[in-house]
Amino acid sequence: MDAHQIEYREKLAAHLIKQLAKRRMEASYAPTAAQAREEIIAMIPAGSRVSRCGSMSLVEMGLWDELAKEPGVVVIDPFVPGLTPEEAHALRLKGLTADYMVASSNALTLDGRLVNLDATGNRVAAMCFGPRKVILVVGMNKVVPDLDAAIARVKYHAAPINAIRVNRETPCRETGLCHDCQSPARICNMWLIIEGQVQDSRIHVKLVGEDLGY
Ligand code: SF4
Repeated sequence: MDAHQIEYREKLAAHLIKQLAKRRMEASYAPTAAQAREEIIAMIPAGSRVSRCGSMSLVEMGLWDELAKEPGVVVIDPFVPGLTPEEAHALRLKGLTADYMVASSNALTLDGRLVNLDATGNRVAAMCFGPRKVILVVGMNKVVPDLDAAIARVKYHAAPINAIRVNRETPCRETGLCHDCQSPARICNMWLIIEGQVQDSRIHVKLVGEDLGY
């Protein structure tokens, strides 16, 4: 990324941090994924139970591998290979009462609204209520002008890529386009638009200057 793009993203992040603050959400900016990873780890004290939800942003930044090395931190991870569906479900339930949840959002509007779409719904449920602290990582590639653009981004970009990633039997898996299907394998089931928080600063949005996730 050239110096102009770096400066643009810094300025945009400064604007977004103010918009999120108006909605009682904390936010901070890290220019790189590596810096964001270290800052997130520093926010999580020893003795914490941390819920992992599906997020390619966090996998790309190597968060889970590094967090697992932290003494006294327990990661509640339903993605451990070899788990039965029942075991993974039990861990997702447990994640709803974790001390910390670290996840990503699918889109962020210029006025500070976070837009999310889930297949199962455990991620959006925990964003709303449960974990004491929620840290949401948003690469600056996910910033969009408004709500319509956010919904379009999620439906026509993030969802088909995710369907391909998890190999769902959906029309978008075949064509790369959303057909607004009613397939049993549909991943576009639960929308959550976060407009604000009652509990000041429960949500911390970590903006990242690098592209992350879909
Ligand atoms: S509604 Fe169906 S076709 Fe559209 S993105 Fe979601 S899963 Fe794919």
